Amino acid sequence: MSADASQYVIAPPPQAAIKVKGSDKLFPVRRIWCVGRNYIEHIREMGQDERAPPFFFAKPADAIVHDGSVVPYPPLTKDMHHEVEMVVALKSGGSNIKPEQANDCIWGYGVGIDLTRRDLQVASREVKRPWEIGKAFDASAPCGPLVPASEIGHPTKGHIALRVNGVVKQDGDLSQMIWNVPETIWKLSEMVELAAGDIIMTGTPAGVGALVPGDKVECEIEGVGTLTISIGKPKA
Ligand code: MN
Repeated sequence: MSADASQYVIAPPPQAAIKVKGSDKLFPVRRIWCVGRNYIEHIREMGQDERAPPFFFAKPADAIVHDGSVVPYPPLTKDMHHEVEMVVALKSGGSNIKPEQANDCIWGYGVGIDLTRRDLQVASREVKRPWEIGKAFDASAPCGPLVPASEIGHPTKGHIALRVNGVVKQDGDLSQMIWNVPETIWKLSEMVELAAGDIIMTGTPAGVGALVPGDKVECEIEGVGTLTISIGKPKA
């Protein structure tokens, strides 16, 4: 459904988007899906079941933060964690997408951070409440510039790393994903109909940890790109 701006009772909110590398173009974001527990060493550090099928949670599209930004330290937490993840950006979608067809839906790739209020996530989990307060807060989805698959292909291996103030904290390889990207698209598309503009954060390797105001966070995925943010003071 499309509507003329004058049909809305308030001004329509801005379209969430991610920058495209080497261009002034933008990738418009419809939905942000995230895969939980997709690298074995991270599952071990969180003390969770290593054989469970993939599961998903979402963040609001307007949680996107551009490369180079300052992320204000979020409210209500004393334990905000970094989780560096490869971002997959879809140019098409559907339901029940077979793994063999999944790569055809991908526009490109980038580097993201699934920022997590770990204390709130764990507290929610313990009382069997939803994760949103731990995962889906404002500015919780920094995303570096996307590169098109037409340029880099579909990465299945390559170093994925995150440094805080120059110190390596997360250091893994895309090949360590339990559910690879086509399988992830396949499983997610059984649950919801995917569409152009959807992005998927594909899980984090081991080494997650807390960030504090003043931290500089640098991420890199070999063959995909980089993302740098810093953590600012809480919003007044
Ligand atoms: Mn994550």
